[in-house]
Amino acid sequence: MFENQKFIKSVFSLKELPSEKYPQVILCGRSNVGKSSFINTLFNRKELAKISSTPGKTRSINFYLIDDKFYIVDLPGYGYAKVSKKEREYWGKLVTEYISKKNNIVFAFHILDCRLAPSELDISLNDMMKSYNIPYAAIFNKVDKLNQSQISQNTKRIMQVFPDLVLNQNLFYFSALKKRGRKKVLTVLSELFYK
Ligand code: GDP
Repeated sequence: MFENQKFIKSVFSLKELPSEKYPQVILCGRSNVGKSSFINTLFNRKELAKISSTPGKTRSINFYLIDDKFYIVDLPGYGYAKVSKKEREYWGKLVTEYISKKNNIVFAFHILDCRLAPSELDISLNDMMKSYNIPYAAIFNKVDKLNQSQISQNTKRIMQVFPDLVLNQNLFYFSALKKRGRKKVLTVLSELFYK
């Protein structure tokens, strides 16, 4: 289980999607939230996903095939302050189109920086998942950066914004640095694909 992971391709438009169809688990979140680190931590790989350095990487949709069974699809991050309005609009269009076409999406991980209040784009993304009935879990990432009482406070804040979240059911604490939360997330995936 989860032994075989392959980077398949990065695409910049919906015309270039991989031809082989598998069920998909999408990863969404603001840029720099730790999506690449999340992938590498889950599968114990150092460089399956390239961490924040490849130019343009944040604008592409990246496909990873796991056990020849399902794709992890890393969607472009949003909300990076230095991108132009045009680029933000392009992000919105690409991601909205991708999600709305379903593409065999069976689950979504919405990755959030546990230090930050959810942004408007986090809220629109959450709305989108609900309107397309995509089951999802929120990943509260970088918990190593906070102490326990800050984590609790920020958990309350996120639950006020997204009242359907329940800790350890569809909200998981995660730290790529400390490898915290990894097993719980793998359990979610094993229930989806290995039952
Ligand atoms: P992406 O742009 O969402 O793919 O984010 P990356 O995975 O490239 O991570 C962005 C930055 O956050 C990098 O400097 C990572 O080392 C850092 N980072 C990611 N996850 C964690 C975490 O759990 N804890 C800490 N302390 N840093 C993290």
